[in-house]
This record gives sequence, C-alpha cells and structure tokens, in this order.
Amino acid sequence: MILKDEALALRIYPFGNTSRIVVWLSKSHGKLATLAKGSQRDRSGFLGQVDLFYTCELLFYAREQRNLHVLKECAPLEPRAAFRTDWRACAAASYAAGLLDRAMPFGPAPRGLYELLEATLDRWAARTPGAASLPRFELRLLEELGLAPSWDACAKCRADLRSGAPARLDAAHGAVRCEACAEGKGASVSPAALAALRQMRGETLPAGLPERTFREVRAILGGLLEHHGDFSPQARDLAFQVLAAG
Ligand SMILES: [Zn+2]
Repeated sequence: MILKDEALALRIYPFGNTSRIVVWLSKSHGKLATLAKGSQRDRSGFLGQVDLFYTCELLFYAREQRNLHVLKECAPLEPRAAFRTDWRACAAASYAAGLLDRAMPFGPAPRGLYELLEATLDRWAARTPGAASLPRFELRLLEELGLAPSWDACAKCRADLRSGAPARLDAAHGAVRCEACAEGKGASVSPAALAALRQMRGETLPAGLPERTFREVRAILGGLLEHHGDFSPQARDLAFQVLAAG
C-alpha cells in the first residue's frame, strides 16, 4: 500500500553503503522510519530532498507488521535553512527532536505532538532560541504525552496550589501534592516555580525569570522526563549549556 503524508525528519542514519534510514514524525501516521534506497548515490532522486528538521511530503510503501517502510518519493516543503548555519538553534532542534524520538515508540502519536514540534522548529529557525525555550518545549511535550502534573491543584486533595502554598513533586508518579498530602515525600516545589510552570503553558515565556527559579523549573522537568522513556541527561545538559552561552 502506498501512503502519502507530511513529516518532520527526526533522525537520519546510513544503511549499507548507499542508503539511509530516515526516522520521521508524520502528521497522520505517527512516528515511522523509511528506507531511502540508494539515496547516497550520485544520481539519486533523494539527493537534497531531506535533511534533519525538514518538513517533507512523503510517498512510501507501507509494510505492515514492520516499522521500516520504503520511501518512494520525498519532496521538501520547509527546509528551515537556519539550522544549517545557526548552531545554537541547531543544538536546540537536535535536542527537541531527539527527546521526542526517544520518548515515542514507533506507531501512532497524538496529533498535538506533530503540531508542537512543527511550531517549535519554525520558531527556532526564525529566531535563535533562548535558554527558556527548552523547558517550555519539555513542558509542552510532557503535556502532549499526558505526563505533566497539574500545577494548579494537589493531585490528592485537590487543594488550590495557586495561593502560594508549599508543595512537593512526586516525579515517579508525575504528581504535585500539597505539603500535607505529600507527607514529606518528593522534592519541594516553590510557589515561584509553580507560577512559572503555569505561565509557560501559554505562548509567552515568563519575563525575567530569576536564575534560581529557572534552575528549579529545569530540575522539575528533568525529574519528570527521567521517568519516561530512554531519556539522556547528557544530551539535555549540553543543549542547556549551548543556549545559556548565548
Ligand atoms: Zn493535598
């Protein structure tokens, strides 16, 4: 069966001497891998048609029962040229695509994930992302995967946490609880960090976040990510360092 889709290139690696495998997040078929046969040959129709962080239109032979499909045609719709020259933006995009790739199995994915990555890559290609862009992406990713806790109310007694009451994060269960329900378990979360996380769900980044709150937010999201999928703290540290140096 031949299928058509739009997809974002998450990862590309060689296969044999002349072929490559491209791992995609597609609009309609979730995460999939395609074999681009002979794509490294001089006259291949695939040359220049795909690179990391491109949006492409694909035609592929879907092989049921297998995760590796065969790429028939591929045309770039949005190459995002900035990622070839802006190394900070490229580092951020590599981290975001890698994080999503590791967090997701092959197969269907929530539609919101495609939209999140597409919008994020568009934004970072248009303007070099700042350090606060990474935790915001992580938060939105956790939300799309259904792994983000409520930052508004205690997971147990539903007490309002917006009033500045102290709370604790149970990262393993993805839950924020009020101090009374937490019974001393989990890491303390400051009201400032909770407020920043609530704000980051929107389109705008919290302006002038104090360094201490930023570090706390980063640690909270790192704790949640660590409990899901094949998470790489090294890749994360590197991406944060690169953007912080901007
Ligand atoms: Zn409670």
